Amino acid sequence: MSLAGHINTYARFAWGLRGFLGERATAESGRDVILGRLRDRDANFLALMKRAVFDNPSSPYTPLLRMAGCEYGDFESSVLRDGIEATLQELQSEGVYVTIDEFKCRQPIVRGAVTVDCREEDFDNPFLTTGIRATSGGSRSRGTATTLSLGRTSYIAHCQAVALEAHGLTGRPTLLWMPALPSAAGLVVMLQLSKIGAPPKKWFSPVASSAVRPSFSKRMATLYLVYAGRAFGADIPAPEYVSTERARDIVRYIETILEQGRGCVVCCSPSSAVIAARTAVSAGIGLSGVAFMTGGEPLTPSKAAEIRLAGATAVNMYASSEVGTIGYGCAGATKACDDIHILEGSQAVIRYERNTPFGGGAVQSLLFTSLHERAAKILVNVESGDYGVLDTRECGCMFGELGLKRHLHTIRSFDKLTGQGMTFVGTDIVRIIEEVLPARFGGVSTDYQMVELEDVGGQTRLDVIVGPNVGVVDEAQVVDLVLDELSKGSDTNRMMAAVWRERQVLRVRRENPHLTSGGKLLSLHIGKKG
Ligand SMILES: [Zn+2]
Repeated sequence: MSLAGHINTYARFAWGLRGFLGERATAESGRDVILGRLRDRDANFLALMKRAVFDNPSSPYTPLLRMAGCEYGDFESSVLRDGIEATLQELQSEGVYVTIDEFKCRQPIVRGAVTVDCREEDFDNPFLTTGIRATSGGSRSRGTATTLSLGRTSYIAHCQAVALEAHGLTGRPTLLWMPALPSAAGLVVMLQLSKIGAPPKKWFSPVASSAVRPSFSKRMATLYLVYAGRAFGADIPAPEYVSTERARDIVRYIETILEQGRGCVVCCSPSSAVIAARTAVSAGIGLSGVAFMTGGEPLTPSKAAEIRLAGATAVNMYASSEVGTIGYGCAGATKACDDIHILEGSQAVIRYERNTPFGGGAVQSLLFTSLHERAAKILVNVESGDYGVLDTRECGCMFGELGLKRHLHTIRSFDKLTGQGMTFVGTDIVRIIEEVLPARFGGVSTDYQMVELEDVGGQTRLDVIVGPNVGVVDEAQVVDLVLDELSKGSDTNRMMAAVWRERQVLRVRRENPHLTSGGKLLSLHIGKKG
């Protein structure tokens, strides 16, 4: 986009920001929004599907629905008779779904005689024409671009206001410890908190701008939003870089907030929360009254335990760049520490069994469908690369009382490596392991392997296994090369690799690569723990 085009986009976005910040999201208005969307759920879904899919010949779903013999009339009667989830499950069994590799256009969609070749843009919501573009990392190309819509951010802010109320956190001062653009997650949470009337007191970024070298337009976007937000009365802080070594500064800042006696909510990744918890424990600072709202990687039992050890609590917020925010942690009787309520007004989630591409056997892969008219992507049974346990039950918390009965927990990834809130897709790692490392250090592809070790002392660690056949290698150079390769492709990838470099996520281990229980040698061992 040209500079003039960018300026035009931001000017329109800033104009929208005025209305966005002008109307406060409260727990009360949030309850109304959730109830309204539940009441109109079928109608909203049918209207979106009619406009974006059935009446849109260029939709990638059109050939799949035709193959399944599903016309709009059949679809509508099935939704009204059997419900949305049952209809989606039926369509999945007929081949109407999109795997993560198909969604990322790493392979065409092939179902029987039907082949659909699509571009990533084909999944964009065609009715979302304005908004700031942000990219997710993990692709050798540009990463998946999504459009940040204020309409949808407003809806999520209402849901977040309910989440805070459900957990008894309304009115607490907030802090943000997430990267700025090119990743949109930090910015979105900042906007939500501002709309709730609790803009973060500080925005700590775990990544230095100099390490990422974001494009001019993205640097401008962050500053623009900060100053536009301030102009419209929200006290929005600019992001400020704090390295992991300076985690103590963050903990000290939390301590000064706690002295005001109102507690504190810190939005960050589970790994950052563990770093803060551990720093607090070693400094003799109690974090009682602190709630970490964590997202970006699994909130595992051992991470939650580390957080509790410091006297703090953790509330899961489950989101992905493609789907957006999927749900918030249950405040009632939970089945697991990452148990969330699916925000059923904006998406439907079903699952199907599939084999994982990198070993580990069969998993219950989650399929997502968009129900919100301002969703960034039109998803119909699209995989995100995550699997988990779905169940429908009463829990006694505010979300449950509002009618959100579908829970999701023990959520893990089967095709990507996630550490420190940063996610790289498996296929990129495989290329590095199978091609880049042997070309540089010798040996063959089977001499190398990457193993995800979940929660080594509360932190996700990734080991690069280098077999003894390879001979002498400089381990620091192996780590450098892997990080350099991961950082290629987009400024989001650079940002994610910078976090992994700074937090020393990668280690080299000299031993023979592991075989799976089936005797296979895989370049990547993930999603097997938890
Ligand atoms: Zn609940």
